Amino acid sequence: MRHTHAHTRNRRSHHALAAIQLSICKDCGKSHLRHTTCQNCGKYKGVQVIDVAARALKKENRAKVKAKSLGIDPEKAKIASAEKK
Ligand SMILES: [Zn+2]
Repeated sequence: MRHTHAHTRNRRSHHALAAIQLSICKDCGKSHLRHTTCQNCGKYKGVQVIDVAARALKKENRAKVKAKSLGIDPEKAKIASAEKK
C-alpha cells in the first residue's frame, strides 16, 4: 500500500519529547525530578531517606581503592576527578 508523506508526518507528530518535570526541594532549595528523592540532601517529602554524607564517604573510599589498584596516588586521582566536573 502507498505510504504517503502525510501518513509519515501524522505518525511522527506524536514523536516529540516532553520536557522533564522538576520540583524544588523544600529542604535545600535544589531542583530534583518529581516523585524522586533529592540527590543533594537525600530527603523525600521532608523525610531523610539517603545518608548523603555516608554515601559521599563511600564514593571517596571507592575512588581511593581504585586509584591504589591502578598505582596512582589517591590524592592526585581526587584532583583529576574534581577537574572533570
Ligand atoms: Zn534537597
